Amino acid sequence: MKLNLNIQPLSSWVNIKNEPLIISGPCSAETEEQLLATAHLLAATGKVSVLRAGIWKPRTRPGEFEGIGSIGLEWLKKAKQETGLPTAVEVATAKHVEEALASGVDILWIGARSTANPFTVQEIADVLKGVDIPVLVKNPVNPDLSLWIGALERINNAGITKLGAIHRGFSSYEKSAFRNEPMWELAIQLKTLCPELPIINDPSHICGNRELIPYISQKALDLDMQGLMIESHIDPSVAWTDAKQQVTPAALAEIVERFSLRKPESKNEEFVDKLADLRKQIDKIDDLMIQKLGERMAIIEKIGEYKRDNNVTILQVNRWDEIINKRSAFAKAVKLDLNFTEKFLELIHNESIRKQTEIMNLGEELSNIEEASAK
Ligand code: PEP
Ligand code: MN
Repeated sequence: MKLNLNIQPLSSWVNIKNEPLIISGPCSAETEEQLLATAHLLAATGKVSVLRAGIWKPRTRPGEFEGIGSIGLEWLKKAKQETGLPTAVEVATAKHVEEALASGVDILWIGARSTANPFTVQEIADVLKGVDIPVLVKNPVNPDLSLWIGALERINNAGITKLGAIHRGFSSYEKSAFRNEPMWELAIQLKTLCPELPIINDPSHICGNRELIPYISQKALDLDMQGLMIESHIDPSVAWTDAKQQVTPAALAEIVERFSLRKPESKNEEFVDKLADLRKQIDKIDDLMIQKLGERMAIIEKIGEYKRDNNVTILQVNRWDEIINKRSAFAKAVKLDLNFTEKFLELIHNESIRKQTEIMNLGEELSNIEEASAK
């Protein structure tokens, strides 16, 4: 399946000062001084192409700072006039969109909580009909690719072709080093479904702390994402929202300077030949793995029939433990990651159980049918 979005390339709607595209600015606009001072320092680094600021903040709990509101749009306008940086804000209602457009905001983005709600996204899409403005759609809070795609489609159907996605990670129940699990595979799937859709990574909301931002940013660039949105603040320690994850403009410049920029392709002939050769080897191994999995499944079918005919349960926990233990030791010896090996075996095991269940039940059904026809 390919996604049918009508999209203009990123470079046609944002002036990228320096590769990669960096969108930066405070999580929230707090005061005129804070926003202007941050904007001036960001502009002076020469590395930032767009100034971001949250004006209306969707807070998880009531009573937290809910954004400075419309007055912040005036400050943003001033920041743009003084620094020349185009501006971006989050919109969550039709009214936000109208106000942002009226005060000359250059780029709108839809936040993670809004993307999760199709009513909200449709309300924003409806008010955008006939408007020519770039819109970035953050992934929804929950790891649901269809919801993310649905929001992109709604905005695109409203006629917005200057469209991009922002990967900001997904909320997860499990404890982790990240505030929001990156779940890179979802962003990769989106990229595969629609290669022309620009995807910008938001390491600030993935990490939830300053320390991991360089690592996540570099990984995003290595996965060929088109840019980064990184929160910055003149003095992060006193930020009213997301204090732990904001960086000073100077720290931002340092992070960006240290990036290794790798190209998606190289035209060097020796490189191309060598890569093609390595890929051929991989293809051969993949074919072999598929063939072996097929053979394994044929044996599983026999086991299923045998268990069915002898009235034995599908799952024998001891056997599963044995598989995991033996294979994990072998995997370690050939330098495979243990976690990966376990996940891989679990996937195969689940499929084996599914197959055996099918056989058992089919057997039952068949014997019922046989019994019925014998009567
Ligand atoms: C933000 O960008 O400040 C924000 C609220 O992000 P998210 O919607 O990703 O939580
Ligand atoms: Mn934030």
